[in-house]
Amino acid sequence: MKSSSNKKAKIGIIGGSGLYDMDGFSNKRLLKVKTPFGDPSAPLILGEISGAPCAFLARHGNGHTILPQEINVRANIWALKSVGVERLIGVTAVGSLKEELSPRHFVFPDQIFDLTHGRNATFFGNGIVAHTAFHTPFCPDQSKILFDKSQSLAINSHQGGTYLCMQGPLFSTKAESRFYKSLGFSVIGMTAATEAKLAREAEICYSLISLVTDYDCWKDGEEVSADIVTSVMQGNSKNAQRLLVSAIPEIAKRSARCSCPEAMKHAIVTAPKAIPAATKKKLSLIVGKYI
Ligand SMILES: [Zn+2]
Repeated sequence: MKSSSNKKAKIGIIGGSGLYDMDGFSNKRLLKVKTPFGDPSAPLILGEISGAPCAFLARHGNGHTILPQEINVRANIWALKSVGVERLIGVTAVGSLKEELSPRHFVFPDQIFDLTHGRNATFFGNGIVAHTAFHTPFCPDQSKILFDKSQSLAINSHQGGTYLCMQGPLFSTKAESRFYKSLGFSVIGMTAATEAKLAREAEICYSLISLVTDYDCWKDGEEVSADIVTSVMQGNSKNAQRLLVSAIPEIAKRSARCSCPEAMKHAIVTAPKAIPAATKKKLSLIVGKYI
């Protein structure tokens, strides 16, 4: 892979570092991005999937060195926006909280319940206040394309459901897992809430391909452990790659009918004159057109 300053990719993918070796991701080159929010998890890998320019980011760093709560999601989203990403696909392993969502199935959630704390989950502050609508946390159009393609590839998949975002890095206790299950949540993971919030503030369409690896630990005899997760994840990864290769051309050519690209239109409540110059400068990539 060679370095490059080429800066155009409409589609972004955030996933495990294994994914960028996928067949069908061609013309790869590295791009190190500096952001006003610090360093992203890794350099971006620019390339093409099915002819569409894409930017890939390894969520936990190359070699998986970054804990969920250590991920600099603001820098990750900023870096992707800076190369032109308008449509972002998160790929992630999840535990299932429902019997029918079996290991190796794909779930395309439509809701989030966020139990994380102490994470930087907004670009705002330091003299600018925004309250962004987040009732529909994933891009519905994009999620539907991913679900439909998944069905056509005969991958066992489920449209909708609530993604519970836990703090981690330890997995749940049985008491926690049974409680979450009793509340009707669908899947559990550690990263998507923060990604979805910051993608929305950056007006990027965001959808999640969640790959079920286990039954968390509510089901006696099938308790989650890291080695089981790793082995099922490898099986899921092939299907995720097939899905990306098939869905990305359609996602690239669709004209947005969703409201994600205008998410911040009415969200900023601070009078433009009151916003400090340094803050304005820092946020120009994200909401420059409004301030
Ligand atoms: Zn959208």
